[in-house]
Amino acid sequence: FLSDTDAKMFVAGHRGLVGSAIHRKLVALGFTKLLLRTHAELDLTRQADVEAFFATERPRYAIVAAAKTNIIDASLRCTGGAVSKLFFLGSSCIYPKHAPQPIPESALLSGPLEPTNEWYAVAKIAGIKMCQAYRIQHGLNAISAMPTNLYGPQDNFHPENSHVLPALIRRFHNVKISRANEVVVWGTGSPLREFLHVDDLADAVVFLMDRYSGLEHANVRSGKEVTIKELAELVKEVVGFQGELVWDKTKPDGTPRKLMDSSMLAGMCGGAALREGLADTYNYKWYADNVVDN
Ligand code: GDP
Repeated sequence: FLSDTDAKMFVAGHRGLVGSAIHRKLVALGFTKLLLRTHAELDLTRQADVEAFFATERPRYAIVAAAKTNIIDASLRCTGGAVSKLFFLGSSCIYPKHAPQPIPESALLSGPLEPTNEWYAVAKIAGIKMCQAYRIQHGLNAISAMPTNLYGPQDNFHPENSHVLPALIRRFHNVKISRANEVVVWGTGSPLREFLHVDDLADAVVFLMDRYSGLEHANVRSGKEVTIKELAELVKEVVGFQGELVWDKTKPDGTPRKLMDSSMLAGMCGGAALREGLADTYNYKWYADNVVDN
């Protein structure tokens, strides 16, 4: 894979958090024939359009970092066997609510899902299972990975609908700008989470494209757990806010702990330290250009 820099590769979702990081990584590695399509150029939910695209382009690799697509089937049926490997992006929320900690890959479908995100989880599980079935039944070299909580440039910084890390960056930034001296953080601060910089996930995706051809999906973790309180203190420091943290205990804590086991990618642990990763996300030009203060 790594020496195949002149092969055609389709990166679906290249404007998203994960897709954009993978795109940056592939450009840095010297891949020259990346096929990129915006939603307006190619609607991946329209099966006929996706089939026509695959029949015409016949990419050698496909990386699926887009939410809703017809790519898996088109890779098999419309390329005359041109696709030599397909990567499907999963999510740690596919695992049962009460999965053992750290969560091994084998925990998939071993219990009920967390009710608040079961719709999303079911869609992702369907994608993973489809990849497995196409591999077993048709020999399509489809692999998938489940990253832990991701963050980085291009994240969703929506004031209400974002995950804790971008939510806190935005809130601390706005309070700093407004010169107020209190920032409200949800819950008790005691839940434990691990966070993975999206560029480290991009490294893992390239590693898997290069080395991995198995049936089982691979967890991708950072291996560094922090409490939400520690995270809030770090964001405070990185953003340069001088005031106080106020804990709103009426807001839910969520799962007490969410740690991934990564026996399959044991050597991959490492990557950006959280403080540097946060600074990269906050200082990234995209943040300043795109996140509107309110
Ligand atoms: P989770 O990993 O699925 O629980 O996703 P979240 O990122 O939404 O929440 C992680 C933890 O951060 C929970 O314990 C929340 O209570 C806590 N948290 C603290 N402040 C915030 C906030 O402003 N937004 C969100 N989403 N979570 C927050």
